[in-house]
Amino acid sequence: MINFTVGPVQMDEETRKLGMEQIPYFRTPEFSAVMKQNEELLCKFFDTPSNSRVIFMTGSGTASMEGGIMNFFTSQDKVLVVNGGSFGHRFVELCEIHEIPFTEIKLEFGKPLTKDILSKYGNNGYTGMVLQLCETSSGVMFDMNLVGDFCKRNNIFLFVDAVSGFLADKISMKEMHINAAITGSQKALALPPSMSFTVLDEAAQKRCYENKVKSMYFNYADYLKNGERGQTPFTPAVGTLLQLNEKLRRIDSNGGITAMNKTTKDRADYFRNKISQLPLKMFTEKDSSSNCVTAISPTRPGVNAHKIFEIIKDEYGIWICPNAGDLAEKVFRVGHIGSITKEEIDKLIEVFEDLVRRGLL
Ligand SMILES: *Cc1c(COP(=O)(O)O)cnc(C)c1O
Repeated sequence: MINFTVGPVQMDEETRKLGMEQIPYFRTPEFSAVMKQNEELLCKFFDTPSNSRVIFMTGSGTASMEGGIMNFFTSQDKVLVVNGGSFGHRFVELCEIHEIPFTEIKLEFGKPLTKDILSKYGNNGYTGMVLQLCETSSGVMFDMNLVGDFCKRNNIFLFVDAVSGFLADKISMKEMHINAAITGSQKALALPPSMSFTVLDEAAQKRCYENKVKSMYFNYADYLKNGERGQTPFTPAVGTLLQLNEKLRRIDSNGGITAMNKTTKDRADYFRNKISQLPLKMFTEKDSSSNCVTAISPTRPGVNAHKIFEIIKDEYGIWICPNAGDLAEKVFRVGHIGSITKEEIDKLIEVFEDLVRRGLL
């Protein structure tokens, strides 16, 4: 199978080799040193202000979305939630579950958050804002410079879900005034699913220490304290953390985050150029599209997007990503993260061409 989904994605050979090793005991100075380096490199790649920290959560990206909502906000907050698709909607549900007062900015699916829309929410006593860097369900990348400036002007705490966007799209916590951001192991880091990571500036850490969360596993103050000596409160996915270390060091010695962003962008551009010749249309606007994933609609009437996903999986051995919900029959997605070669993209294009010949696309 060739895997063009958005996670789990294809892993590099180096990562897979490490997956064969025994898992070591982790309450050791050696493992602590690995964790300290993981923290340092994640802070470097998120371009954090000084004294930032990382929480290593064993649990998929949603665990860190939920942990963030629980630890950063209280019933005294008033949070703006951008809902541009299924991951934005997840933040809405999390605020409801944890009884955090919020206002939803519901966007038309596939459309960016504009200055006009956002300006309506200034000077309204908001204390927090949460949104995705890349809304993976539509492939929209939100304008973080716009959002960061807005939050800075209005003294709003900004929590960004960069689970899919990290490494694919530019993120700088310093420049974009982001207080906390998350990513996950099985997206662009191309590790096995199992862990997610929250990068916190000093304001975010302060909120964790001051907030009394009703949870043992999601008590971030505990993670921050243990992290000072390079440890976690409970047994983490040790194997993934070792693979993370190898991956972060490899990115660092191969041109760092800039090179990683460029590789992903080149891959996305290459694919998008190729499909412009086919009866397929990109679902998002060019300058608000993430490099992580392309959402696509077939243009010929009667062509069912979910059916295309099934045929490509069953008859050609390639996974693309179906969409859920209302647009399941209209939209599918092709991911650009993980270890994907140009030859593999060419293969997928040949499949689309074959489907056109067969009258199916
Ligand atoms: C994948 C993803 C998540 C996390 O999903 P999990 O299934 O919990 O790993 C969160 N936010 C975004 C934007 C994602 O793409």
